Amino acid sequence: IVHGPEPTVRTTCPYCGVGCGVLATPDGQGGAAIAGDSEHPANFGRLCSKGSALGETLSLENRLLHPQVDGVRVPWETALTEVADGLHAVAEAHGPESIAFYLSGQLLTEDYYVANKLAKGFIGTPHVDTNSRLCMSSAVAAHRRAFGSDTVPGCYEDLDEADLIVLVGSNAAWCHPILFRRMADARARRGTKIVTIDPRRTQTAEESDLFLGLRPGSDVALFSGLLVHLADGGFADARFVAEHTAGLDGALERARRIAPDIAAVAAATGLAPAEIGAFYDLFAGTRRVVTAFSQGVNQSAQGTDKGNSIINCHLVTGRIGAVGTGPFSLTGQPNAMGGREVGGLANMLAAHMHFTPEEVDRVRRFWGAPRIITGEGMKAVALFEAIQRGRIKALWVMGTNPLVSMPRADAIREALTGLDLYVVSEAVADSDTARGLGRKTVLLPAQAWGEKDGTVTNSERRISRQRRFLASPGEARPDWQALAEVGRRLGHAKAFAFPSAAAVFREHAGLSAFENGGTRDFDIGGLMDIPDAAYAVSLPVQWPLPKKSGPPGRRQGRARLFADGRFYTFDRRARFVAVQPPALAQGVSDEHPFVLNTGRVRDHWHTMTRTGKSQRLSAHRAVPFVEVHPDDAATHGLTEGGIARVSTPHGAAELEVTVTDAVPPGTLFMPMHWGGAYASRARVGALVRGMPDPVSGQPELKATPAAAAPV
Ligand code: SF4
Repeated sequence: IVHGPEPTVRTTCPYCGVGCGVLATPDGQGGAAIAGDSEHPANFGRLCSKGSALGETLSLENRLLHPQVDGVRVPWETALTEVADGLHAVAEAHGPESIAFYLSGQLLTEDYYVANKLAKGFIGTPHVDTNSRLCMSSAVAAHRRAFGSDTVPGCYEDLDEADLIVLVGSNAAWCHPILFRRMADARARRGTKIVTIDPRRTQTAEESDLFLGLRPGSDVALFSGLLVHLADGGFADARFVAEHTAGLDGALERARRIAPDIAAVAAATGLAPAEIGAFYDLFAGTRRVVTAFSQGVNQSAQGTDKGNSIINCHLVTGRIGAVGTGPFSLTGQPNAMGGREVGGLANMLAAHMHFTPEEVDRVRRFWGAPRIITGEGMKAVALFEAIQRGRIKALWVMGTNPLVSMPRADAIREALTGLDLYVVSEAVADSDTARGLGRKTVLLPAQAWGEKDGTVTNSERRISRQRRFLASPGEARPDWQALAEVGRRLGHAKAFAFPSAAAVFREHAGLSAFENGGTRDFDIGGLMDIPDAAYAVSLPVQWPLPKKSGPPGRRQGRARLFADGRFYTFDRRARFVAVQPPALAQGVSDEHPFVLNTGRVRDHWHTMTRTGKSQRLSAHRAVPFVEVHPDDAATHGLTEGGIARVSTPHGAAELEVTVTDAVPPGTLFMPMHWGGAYASRARVGALVRGMPDPVSGQPELKATPAAAAPV
């Protein structure tokens, strides 16, 4: 393997947070043969249906190839000057806080870093958020409340070594397929039990030893009951709790009120007492337990409490930081973790630093940024509402399609028409979001997967390289370069004089180590002096990776954190969290009697701008659909293959009906992927309100009151 443009290039899959290694062999005609990388520690050569079809998605059909201003092709110089002048004018007229950036877990860390530095350090706006807000920000908030830091304690090897894997709100068999195969391997090799907790009987549930089909939104009751069961049943690790934690009494007292016994848990969750008891006994009696949670937990108006109710059960048993144990957040996107590292969320600064005066000052000095912001910005839902109210006058969207994926997508479309400046960095020519909307719309052609160079971080804190193996088409450029050019045009030539992606990465690594001294979890100082040549061939490595972790070239990251029982709170103790009783943010009514759940299908990714190019992938589910239970179908006159109009208080869609008992009575399920040609009749985003979690700001996407009727 040569780590250059020819002949075979080692890179990373652009889809889910598993972060599988890919070998790409270009054919010299714009295509490439794709295979799994047997040396990558995430997948050891395996790829799922989406990853193995990557070669079918490389065509230039529907690519944005040239910059445009208001629909007219212009040179890059003109487009960049329009952006810089427009941002300057908006800042002068309305203040820098009238400018916002909406970023993406699809961006590379280098793109993310430069965007964050430009906005928060030099333009002086805190309003930088990302589609990762819709993905895992509740897991971030739960980590911070429990550990004092946004730290994923464990690694994929823990799934190989666990005796019990509990999957909560996760259809891993479809959404993290290669990790699920590792879990299945562990079951075959060592008898690992798999428990799935989900309102839907998914493919993952079908392949589990125990499936708990709980009522939507009742997870907190199930895990509060488990905490009580563990504490009262003599399963607590008293020494660990006494030496390394705080707050058990308060959390337990609240848990007792929510779920004093199994009968109360059964009443709250709709589960049978026997199946609850079986799960509790399994958890209590197994030392090596990993609880992996995903969007069913996070995409909820109570997502942070759900996460903490899970973490509480690991803390009380001391099952964290050791092989085969721990709570484990499965991130959705390829670089959700990298975005957290650079501070791409509105409530983070950079390198896992926040807004204490000391940390603001530290980043200010490192960046040489006197206009650095001093507090949090608006999170995604609030940010788009502020556009609606006219408070935000300029928006730069990068690598994401909020007009399909954001809650209240139609209201957002309307709001964007009022912007003075609307900038979209995009690889796709006619995504819903790339259609001209603002008073001035600038489209900047971005490099796509296979054309760009940089890094991503997967769910186990492993930084891998995405490498270029195709020529850049048309005038497409790296996003970090466009951002840096705008920074220079705004008068910050020195701060944005990055000659390469490697130089951006070195600065990012340097900031992580700057005045760190072990006080912050995210430290990759061991990579801050990586030469260009080493960056080009660098292999996947886990953080933390501080400078003192070995001599250059042989520095090793850490697979697990918290093995010493020391966390990142001020007293180094983990915190139990007293959670709120479960309740759906929006209840059903006579008019809207169903709970509408949303999610992915096996073979599509996000809004299908890439996977939609593969006929093989599209064949899995060719049209948007709604799943309905047979009893409800009979009551509401819905038939298999017919068309249903699904309506909510926020919008309506027309979808093909699938009648299945995989969804419980009283619920509907609809996939999130369809936009584009189906935009007017199948976008999930137009149907959901997205009530935000009060702690994380992550919107509820899985429990909207809805009605369904035949068309
Ligand atoms: Fe890509 Fe995820 Fe499939 Fe791996 S599991 S090949 S990262 S989509």
